[in-house]
Formats: sequence, C-alpha cells, structure tokens
Amino acid sequence: MANRVTIFENVCKGCGLCTLVCPKKIMKIDKNRFNDKGYNPSAVTDISQCIACAMCAAMCPDSAIKVEKE
Ligand code: SF4
Ligand code: SF4
Repeated sequence: MANRVTIFENVCKGCGLCTLVCPKKIMKIDKNRFNDKGYNPSAVTDISQCIACAMCAAMCPDSAIKVEKE
C-alpha cells in the first residue's frame, strides 16, 4: 500500500499553495479540469514519490487535502 493523498476537489479553489510547498513537487494544478465552482483543482502527479509529509494539507486554506501514511 502506498501513501494516499485525497483532494476534495469541490472544496479546492485552485490557489496553488499546495503546489508551492510540496517538497517532491508532485502537486500540480490540473488546467484540464474544473470543479463545481469553476476552479482548476490540484492533483497529485506521481503518488509513488509522496513522503506523506502533509505539508500540502497543512498549507491548504480550505482543508481540501487529506494525507494518509501507508
Ligand atoms: S504529503 Fe508531502 S510529499 Fe505528499 S503530496 Fe503532500 S506535500 Fe507532497
Ligand atoms: S492549497 Fe488547497 S485550495 Fe489551494 S490549490 Fe491546493 S488543494 Fe486547492
């Protein structure tokens, strides 16, 4: 089992803060998708590199991210 990052997309406002703090640079704003509010949500590009540091979750102003360590 791998670490897990859940993004509650419809809470995300696409601010990009989580992409700035991820030490592995695996959080990206997905420009090809839109949530119910019309924002581009963030997404994890390569979960296998995630170290479950939870920096992304701590930084998110809308509590849109949940991190679970394997
Ligand atoms: S838990 Fe850490 S390594 Fe994993 S996506 Fe979030 S900031 Fe990046
Ligand atoms: S910090 Fe939160 S609201 Fe901002 S892009 Fe990341 S998940 Fe979305």
